Amino acid sequence: MHSVRSWSLVAIAIAFIHPAFAWGPDGHRTVGTLAGKLIAGSNAATQVQAILGNESLADVAVWADCAKGVNQSTFKYEHPGVYPECKIFETPAGEAAMEDFVRRNATNCPLKPGEEICHKQYHYTDVAIQHQTYLRGFVGTRDDDIVAAVIATTHVLKGDPAPAPFNIKDKAEALRLLVHYVGDLHQPQHVGAVYLDARGNEVNPDTGTFDPGTATRGGNSIIVKSTKKNLHATWDAVPVSLTPSHVTTAWVTSAHAIAPTSGSDFDWPKRWASQSVAQANLAMSTLRFGPQTGTHWTVVLPAGYSAKMSSIKKVQLTRGGARLAQLLQDIWP
Ligand SMILES: [Zn+2]
Repeated sequence: MHSVRSWSLVAIAIAFIHPAFAWGPDGHRTVGTLAGKLIAGSNAATQVQAILGNESLADVAVWADCAKGVNQSTFKYEHPGVYPECKIFETPAGEAAMEDFVRRNATNCPLKPGEEICHKQYHYTDVAIQHQTYLRGFVGTRDDDIVAAVIATTHVLKGDPAPAPFNIKDKAEALRLLVHYVGDLHQPQHVGAVYLDARGNEVNPDTGTFDPGTATRGGNSIIVKSTKKNLHATWDAVPVSLTPSHVTTAWVTSAHAIAPTSGSDFDWPKRWASQSVAQANLAMSTLRFGPQTGTHWTVVLPAGYSAKMSSIKKVQLTRGGARLAQLLQDIWP
């Protein structure tokens, strides 16, 4: 969503970045819906409701994307009426809350020239898919990436201050962000990335000298020939069967059956990210890319790819819902 970036503005200078619209609103709301059903009746559910009031986890799952509608120079929300899922936040107080968040999270991170405003960077990381694991320090990772963002919001919900560079003012803001970020962390294109040379051959950015021109911005710079959509957006979209109204009892049961992540909750996001890199590898290692033209590459998706995508999307949305529920119940046992 919020695909306001025009290709003419996307110069090679900003090759590191991508708009990061992870999962469309439906995917995020599905993660929130699953988690809400999984924690029903628990102390976590009581605490969530005390914080969110009339809003549900599914409602607030899109808040961090809606906040991208705040102009990054004037800090005014400028998308009223454009995105239906943002409507509930389009009150004077709601818009002021988004504007305040963006103002506090605009330039608080170490920004390289041409990089996106800080809060937009919280939504993703770009680990080369060859690694099949997430390790801070790999090209594409940052101290304010999606893994760090999940950890930061968890801290705030546990009563700690937000670790720098994050500026999260209270638990209500942290919870809205957490629901969204856990969703993003499970969108393979938000965590794993292919890096391509000018001929469209995959390269490993962590060997030799890194060339920023090889970054595909989470697939935003790769155009699917048949649809003219970029690969990132192709993964953001979910089929109707994976939308919130299709979260059946059977689906909730399968989410409930997902093995809880062991160890410290502050280590969980890294492990979930590693799994997403592996899923991105599964999703992209067999693709063949065309040579670079201007700022983008092309790809022809093979027969059966749509079904393969749908099955990975379902697995990842299910994990996202289950992990969000586990984290909330860890924060509020
Ligand atoms: Zn996002």
